[in-house]
Amino acid sequence: MIALALLALGTATCRDVSGAEAEPAEIFVHAIGAGTVTKAPDAELHPGEGMTLTAIAASGWRFERWSGDIAGAANPLTFTLRESQTCIAVFRPVDPGAVFLPGGNFFGRNRYIEYVPGDRPLVISVPHGGDMQPAEIRDRPSGETTQDGFVIELGREAAAAYDGQFQGRPHLVICHLHRRKLDANRGPGEGAAGDPLALLAWNEFQEYILVAKEIVGRGLYLDLHGQSDDALRQQLGYLLSAQDLRRSDAELDQPAISSRSSLRRLAQASAVPFSQLVRGPRSLGGLLESLGYDSVPSPRWPHPGDVPYYDGGYNTQVHGSRDNGEIDGMQLEATRTVRFDAASRALFAASLARALAEFIAAWY
Ligand SMILES: [Zn+2]
Repeated sequence: MIALALLALGTATCRDVSGAEAEPAEIFVHAIGAGTVTKAPDAELHPGEGMTLTAIAASGWRFERWSGDIAGAANPLTFTLRESQTCIAVFRPVDPGAVFLPGGNFFGRNRYIEYVPGDRPLVISVPHGGDMQPAEIRDRPSGETTQDGFVIELGREAAAAYDGQFQGRPHLVICHLHRRKLDANRGPGEGAAGDPLALLAWNEFQEYILVAKEIVGRGLYLDLHGQSDDALRQQLGYLLSAQDLRRSDAELDQPAISSRSSLRRLAQASAVPFSQLVRGPRSLGGLLESLGYDSVPSPRWPHPGDVPYYDGGYNTQVHGSRDNGEIDGMQLEATRTVRFDAASRALFAASLARALAEFIAAWY
């Protein structure tokens, strides 16, 4: 069953420009999800003055937290204004699974961020594949701006292949903004570079991942990327450095290593040695390799050797189980050869779906 719905975003932007002596504060107020925000006093305000925001959730939704340049869950929230302030109220359904139905399409403001809910314990996010470059968002002045080509296509095809082979969908969260506008695999400061609307999109991307994780409960999170060089192997990142992976299995199996990995929860819950989860035959790298895709780490390639290696970025750090939670995480850096050519990509998408399904069946 395919259910299509468009998430209503109660978005109110207040930017006072009338002429007072001092420059008024620039205040951007947004809501993610179904709810509204009231601002008091409802007048032009200046830096140093106090302001109170009240978040009012729509029926069936609850106020979750403040984000942007404010934080916490106090409601109402009173604070002292700075020169420019982005205030985001995050609302979440009381029962997310009843709102975000599998196979539906949900979008944030201006469709920069997309969420396709699933019904399997797997969340795939795609932060770097976007090509939207709206004029309303400033270019990021520094940092990496290279797009990961054809990863959105790969993510969609892998999700569809998963459904086709196993009759169930992973959750899929996509950033459609080009990395010049937003880096959705960095913290909010570097990722949005101070742009209010990029910061809103950053929060929408994160919130959809959090919603998907809440629906999943216990399972796996995969942050999907593409390598820009001529790398020969698929790379899987578990927050373990190339140096860590050069260790012997016995060293890797020490709890001090697994506890700084994005598979920390799985390592705790599983009776098999940690090295098997990372590079055994039934690790994701091992499963991909058995399907014909050289991967690192894996039984054949236990460490990356001298090639540049991606051990996992912001999303893997935040959404894997290193710090807390029931969802383990990993970053996949797919090679160019499995992305740019449509026929090769379709084959890889089907193999990736199979490897992920077998990984989940083995360990969850
Ligand atoms: Zn990337």
